[in-house]
Amino acid sequence: LWMNIVVIGAGQAAAQTVVSLRQFGSDDDIQIVGEEPAPPYQRPPLSKAYMKGEMDEARLYLRPNEWYAENNVELLLSQRAISVDTATATVKLDNGKTLPYDRLVIATGSRPRQLPVPSANLKNVFDLRTLDDVQRIREQLSSEKKLAIIGAGYIGLEAAAVARQLGLEVTVIEMAERILARVTSPVISAFYQSVHESHGVNFFTNARLSALRGKDGAIVSAVLEDGAEIDADIALVGIGISPNDTIAADAGIECQDGIVVDRDGRTNNPAVFAAGDCARRPLVHYSGSARLESVHNAIEQGKLVAAAILDRPRPREEAPWFWSDQYDLKLQIAGLSVGFNDHVIRGDIEARKFAVFYFDDEKLLAVDAVGAPGEFLQAKKWIADGQTPDRSRLKDASVSIKEIAQDMK
Ligand code: FAD
Repeated sequence: LWMNIVVIGAGQAAAQTVVSLRQFGSDDDIQIVGEEPAPPYQRPPLSKAYMKGEMDEARLYLRPNEWYAENNVELLLSQRAISVDTATATVKLDNGKTLPYDRLVIATGSRPRQLPVPSANLKNVFDLRTLDDVQRIREQLSSEKKLAIIGAGYIGLEAAAVARQLGLEVTVIEMAERILARVTSPVISAFYQSVHESHGVNFFTNARLSALRGKDGAIVSAVLEDGAEIDADIALVGIGISPNDTIAADAGIECQDGIVVDRDGRTNNPAVFAAGDCARRPLVHYSGSARLESVHNAIEQGKLVAAAILDRPRPREEAPWFWSDQYDLKLQIAGLSVGFNDHVIRGDIEARKFAVFYFDDEKLLAVDAVGAPGEFLQAKKWIADGQTPDRSRLKDASVSIKEIAQDMK
């Protein structure tokens, strides 16, 4: 049965969906519509190696440009889908084109939240989401400059590390009482704050931004509600993202802070799927549903959607995972720690090789592993298998993680 498959959005999830469709043997017609000019690319290096100038643009691309033609995938770039009509099964583009579909995949990603303060549209105030954002940021990253980072999430902190290594003066402004408050435990927050401070980053926590001040249209400082004024030639805003789900909501597809999908990535319209940052999926290893903002999620959902479209068996879902690179440290996260009420630290925080395991009353929920890839991999497996190691055994780092796992068999 030959189909017309249209994918809206040309990012990580879109690329994976299409790659998997072809890997699974589909010879259907495939079109990808993307509003950015670049072919599908990976975003993680944008706040890491690429931002630092250590990686070429072409290495960001998920597939070389030729791949699409060779695999008979039509890439419609610099074109935006503006509406979906589920009654006629068509997508309308901003250039007047109309694309008919048999199956539609919405992989529109997310957009940075905008600062709710005056003068957020001054020159040299940047979001950190797209290749274009980072190309413009890179032009400004010279060592005599002062950088203010608003929001201490992973992206903001990675950018802080890059900028310090390039010699800029860096100040991080965070509204919550600690950095990374939304995504991790106080142990990890304190660890990363101390690492950044040892590299000379200044922090303001519990700090509410009241305005960005400008001169001749360009930023000169960030002003806090308590009156403190932080000089800045550049500001990076990393205060979270919102899902790009309006195109679905306007088409009558169920959305709830994200496009609601089932385990296969199918929306409440059987011909329409969603994957990646824009989708709210059921959590297989936990209760409830969530939007997951990660490469792993985009890849996994891309595969799930491709399998569902082709009526193939559902690929096994892994535990969610994520990583962050700051300075020479590699943080690897498996699982979701939300709602933990107990934790075990394994290894040596001072030596920067340790893992924090998170539990609720019964089970292992997640791990944050710093320079501890073995702990990360094992915990990821335990979570996927629904297994929980003994907490007191984990504390004893003289027993290897392999041995602990072996004894649980
Ligand atoms: P995207 O990759 O954002 O792709 C969506 C695309 O759709 C965009 O190009 C968008 O312009 C386009 N689009 C939207 N609406 C339309 C429309 N109507 N018509 C046409 N096109 C449209 N994750 C990790 O796991 N590890 C990391 O270390 C990590 N680091 C990151 C660093 C940065 C700076 C950023 C920004 C993200 C990082 N992430 C990381 C998150 C990860 O990159 C995202 O979760 C992932 O890109 C999501 O893939 P996606 O396909 O859902 O969305």
